[in-house]
Amino acid sequence: MGLERRRTLECMGYAVEKSDDEWRAELSKAEYDVLRRAGTERAHTGEYTDTKTTGVYRCRACSAELFRSDTKFDSHCGWPSFYAPLAEDRVEYIEDRSMGMKRVEVRCAACGSHLGHVFEGEGYGTPTDQRYCINSISMVLEPAQEPAQGS
Ligand SMILES: [Zn+2]
Repeated sequence: MGLERRRTLECMGYAVEKSDDEWRAELSKAEYDVLRRAGTERAHTGEYTDTKTTGVYRCRACSAELFRSDTKFDSHCGWPSFYAPLAEDRVEYIEDRSMGMKRVEVRCAACGSHLGHVFEGEGYGTPTDQRYCINSISMVLEPAQEPAQGS
């Protein structure tokens, strides 16, 4: 009864659900194309590719916290790269066989928006040997408010 129903809801939906029309109205055309249509921004064009600012990267569609700047690293691939999400429950993984490749798509677990892809075993010297290759346009950086350390 009650429990059955709750289980179904948990399996089916995202915490943030909006119709396609609502997303179109809220997001710019470029944001919509990446977040809701799984597009990819062109390499080396994104706002956060080389950003070193300390802070938290939130989902541009729903503001869920996704990545922390301390897991961001220089992959030189042309997109912001992280070696881990802020927490495993912040993202979900979907097998993507488009473009003749087998890749793992990364989506926001709260709203289902497309973020990018995750690759592993590439030999980057990071703790996880994974590269979360994320579109800048899928995120908004919230700089940390802490006072400057050390002096
Ligand atoms: Zn989201």
